[in-house]
Amino acid sequence: MNPVRPYAVKKRVDVPMPAQLLDGKTLAQHIKTQLQTWLAETIPQVGRPPGLAVIWVGDNPASAAYVGQKQKACAQVGIATCGGHFPADTTQTELTALIEQLNQDERVDGILVQLPLPEHLDSAKLLHLIDPDKDVDGLHPVNLGKLVRGEPGLQSCTPAGVMRLLRHYQIPLAGQRAVVVGRSTLVGKPLGLLLLAADATVTLAHSRTVDLPELTRQADILVSAVGRVGLITAAMVKPGAVVVDVGINRTEKGLVGDVDFAAVQPVASWLTPVPGGVGPMTVAQLLINTVQSYAQRYGMVVPATVG
Ligand code: NDP
Repeated sequence: MNPVRPYAVKKRVDVPMPAQLLDGKTLAQHIKTQLQTWLAETIPQVGRPPGLAVIWVGDNPASAAYVGQKQKACAQVGIATCGGHFPADTTQTELTALIEQLNQDERVDGILVQLPLPEHLDSAKLLHLIDPDKDVDGLHPVNLGKLVRGEPGLQSCTPAGVMRLLRHYQIPLAGQRAVVVGRSTLVGKPLGLLLLAADATVTLAHSRTVDLPELTRQADILVSAVGRVGLITAAMVKPGAVVVDVGINRTEKGLVGDVDFAAVQPVASWLTPVPGGVGPMTVAQLLINTVQSYAQRYGMVVPATVG
C-alpha cells in the first residue's frame, strides 16, 4: 500500500499592501478650483479681491521658493498680493511700521511674515503686532489661545492643512493613538492640539524623548515634523499606521521628508509623499485662511465645500 502522501501545504505568504498615498497635491488643486469659483462670484459683489501681504526679508533660498509658491497660488485663485521683498538689513522699526500700516489697510485681509527672519530681528515681537483678524499664519497669541480653548480662529496653515488632508481621506481619529514628533509652535504643538480636539489620544515627542522608536511603534497616527532625513524608519512604524511626513529636507536628490518612504510604505496603511503631501496643503490652507478672513469682514460665510 502506498503511504498516504500528505497534501503539499503551501506556506501562505502575506504580501503586505503598500500604503495608499495621502495625496495633498491633488486635494490642494481641488481646493484651489473651489476657491477660484467662489471668488469669481464673490469679488464683483464685494468690489475688491481678497488681499494678502507677504513680508519676506533677506535671501534665504528656501523662503524664496515658499514665497514664490504662495504668490503663484494666490494669483491662480484671485487673491491679490502685496508686501514685498526687503533687504537683509531691514530694521525692526521699519518692519514694525510696515505691519502697523498693513493692519490699517482695508485692502489687506491677511499678513504673512515669511520665517525665518534674519537673526537681528525679533520675529515673535513682529508676529504679535499683526492684527489677529489678519493673522493668516495663525501664530498670534490670540489665535494660538483660541486653539487651546477650542474656539474658532485662524489656525496655523501646516497643522490645519494636515487635518484637512486626514479628514478628506476619512482617517478615523477619535480614540486613536497619535504621536507627533516635533513640538514647535509652528507645527508640532498646534497639530497636537488639533488632533486632541478630534478626540485622538496625543503624545508630543521631541529631541529629549527617551526611546522614540518604542513610542512611535504605539502610534495609529504618526506625524513627523522634525527636519531630519531618515528619522522615521520602518521599524518605528506600527503595521497599518497612518504616517504623515511634515519634514522638508533639501538633499542632493531633491526634497525629501523625515520618513524613509520606500521602507515605510509596505508597513503603513496611509502615507504622505514628499513632495506632494503636506506642502501643497500648507499653501492651500493659507488661501483658505485669507479668503475666510476676507469673507468675515463682509459678514459672509465661505461654504464648507469651498474651505
Ligand atoms: P523646528 O526646528 O522648529 O522644530 C523641530 C522639532 O523637532 C523640535 O521640537 C525638536 O525638538 C524636534 N527634534 C529635533 N531633533 C529630533 C530628534 N532627533 N528626535 C525627535 N525630535 C527631534 O522645526 P519646524 O517645526 O518649524 O519644522 C519641522 C519640519 O517641518 C522641518 O523640516 C520644516 O522644513 C518642515 N515644515 C514643513 C512644512 C510643510 O508645509 N510641509 C511647513 C513647516 C515646516 P526640541 O523642541 O527638543 O528641540
